[in-house]
Amino acid sequence: MISNGTKLVRDSIARALMPPQQITVSEWSDRYRMLSSAASAEHGPWRTRRTPYLSEVMDALSPNSPVQFVTFMAGAQLGKTECLNNLIGYTIHQAPGPMMAVQPTVDLAKVMSRQRLEPLIADSPVLRRLIGGTKSRDSTNTVLHKDFPGGFLRLVGANSSAGLRSMPVRILALDEIDAYPGDVDGEGDPVALAEARTRTYAGRKKVVKTSTPTIEGRSRISKSYDEGDRSRFHLPCPECGELEVLAWRDIKYDRDEDGDLVLDTVRWACPACGSLVAEHHKTAMLEGGVWIAEAPDLSHRHRSFHISSLYSPVGWYSWEDAVRDFILASKPGETEALRAFVNTVLGETWKEKGEAPEWERLYNRRETYELGVVPAGVSILAGVKDGLQGRGPAELLLLLLTFPKAHQASKTEAGHALAASSSSTISTAAGVSGVSGVLSGI
Ligand SMILES: [Zn+2]
Repeated sequence: MISNGTKLVRDSIARALMPPQQITVSEWSDRYRMLSSAASAEHGPWRTRRTPYLSEVMDALSPNSPVQFVTFMAGAQLGKTECLNNLIGYTIHQAPGPMMAVQPTVDLAKVMSRQRLEPLIADSPVLRRLIGGTKSRDSTNTVLHKDFPGGFLRLVGANSSAGLRSMPVRILALDEIDAYPGDVDGEGDPVALAEARTRTYAGRKKVVKTSTPTIEGRSRISKSYDEGDRSRFHLPCPECGELEVLAWRDIKYDRDEDGDLVLDTVRWACPACGSLVAEHHKTAMLEGGVWIAEAPDLSHRHRSFHISSLYSPVGWYSWEDAVRDFILASKPGETEALRAFVNTVLGETWKEKGEAPEWERLYNRRETYELGVVPAGVSILAGVKDGLQGRGPAELLLLLLTFPKAHQASKTEAGHALAASSSSTISTAAGVSGVSGVLSGI
């Protein structure tokens, strides 16, 4: 009889010696992933065919893809969370290594572990063999930490800097990033803190960010989408065959005298041929869909995908559901409901109306920067100095316009720049070479 420890070592060596199967995340999911009735509306074997738009998103996360960054900005009811579950399952079984999965809070990370991760492991026999349950005596497996041969999965909350600073990871999954705090424990942006954990893995890392977006100018997922190749899912029109994005403006319907939806009038109007297409065509259209990037020169490194709930498979969330939700949200005084519709159904950012006070619009556009680092793209530093004497260092409030690459400048240097605010440039005062901007001190 061999001990558990010996068996674990032996299994690890055997796994390390096996040639990699080189299957992709979507192939793995179709082959090994099981959905239980407890965790999913549709139980049984996972079928990527049901949500064809997820195939390319998942396969960009496969080790044989050169892509390092994947951004998925999406509405609800699309299977977005399952992408991450499939990545976790694939990593445990096919490409083990250190992995971190971040939720907006520690409490949500615990919920994710119990409601998603534990069924994922329990329902898929290949995973169950590799990870003991939390009930086992193996103390290395807890709700927020799972060990498996060749790697581990650490679940953390974006509201805990201790969790985000833990250890280097090769795979980083950041879920619902628009719900993360702007600053965690006074240490800055939780996304930047988590991403710093992947530095040692350079070209082999995978960083995936998913979220429904929030306010324009404030949305992390929207910013990350803009930084990638900006792919949108195009569907073939059943009448003319043109590939088109399923846009809200092309959803047509009739309303009765009371403003209510007239049954069975919801159609998609093809922008190319004008045909009115009924929703039962959607399954075939999804199967013929393709992702088309606006910036294909970035596709080898950063894939970014946007998709709305209008693509939700037949039986999950219909165009008629979307129209009903829109009619309800369009009633006077329902601004919050309309914002929720734009964010969670259309998967788009919400533009604040112009009547917001000037300070509020400026406040909403603020972004988090690492302390003492001038971000890429900045060439003019405009500082505002506290007018009261002896109240500590002044703060730099605005950083603007083009600058070739990120440049390290210590807090002291920034402070010196302000102290020397009568100087016409900060290049000498701050010791920052190449900055040609003017600092306007008060
Ligand atoms: Zn058409």
